[in-house]
Amino acid sequence: MKTRLALLFWFVLILSTVLTLAGADAAQRGARPGQSRAPQARPAQTRSVQVRPRGNQGRIPMAPPARSNPAEPRQAEHLPTGHVNDMPHVNHGQWFGHEQPNDVRFRIDQPFAHGRFARFGPSYRYRVTRIDPNLHRFWFRRSFFDVAEWDWPLCADWCWDCGDDFTVYEDPDHAGWYLLYNIHTGVYVHVQYMGV
Ligand SMILES: [Zn+2]
Repeated sequence: MKTRLALLFWFVLILSTVLTLAGADAAQRGARPGQSRAPQARPAQTRSVQVRPRGNQGRIPMAPPARSNPAEPRQAEHLPTGHVNDMPHVNHGQWFGHEQPNDVRFRIDQPFAHGRFARFGPSYRYRVTRIDPNLHRFWFRRSFFDVAEWDWPLCADWCWDCGDDFTVYEDPDHAGWYLLYNIHTGVYVHVQYMGV
C-alpha cells in the first residue's frame, strides 16, 4: 500500500511538472510572434506600397551569370507553344537574348569613363525622374544613363515615368555596360552610366 501511494505521489508530481512546463512553453510560443511581428511588419508594409512586378513571374531576377565562352551566341527562349522569343528578356529567372560576349558593338575604349554606378542589383528599384527620347537618355534623380542606340527600339515605348519600375545590373559580359531591366515587361536593354 505504501509503495502504491509513493508511486501515485510521484506520478502526480511528474504529471504536474510536465503540465506546468508545457503551459510555460505554450505561453512563450504565443508571446514570441506577437513580440517580433510588430517591428517586422514595417518593411513588409513599405514593400506593399510598391507595385508588384509583372515580368518574370512577379519576381525581380538575380543578376545574370557571366558567360565563359566569348563566342557564345545569344540564346532565344523556346516557349511550350512553339513560339520563339528572341527579345532580350528574363523569364523564370533566366536571362534570354543577351548578345554574345564578343559582339564588337559593346567594345568601349575606356570602360566606366564616367565612373561606376554602385547601387545595382535586384534590391534597388528605381524611378525614372526624367527621360529625353531624342538623346535616348534617362535620369534617376541626378545620375543619368544613355541607352545603346541599337537597343532603343526595344524600350522606346516603355512607360518611363510610371513608377519605380526599374532595376539595374552590371553587365557581366560587356565591360562598361549596365543592363536596365523593366520589372513589368521583363525586357532589358544596355545602358551606359554617364555620371551625375
Ligand atoms: Zn551585355
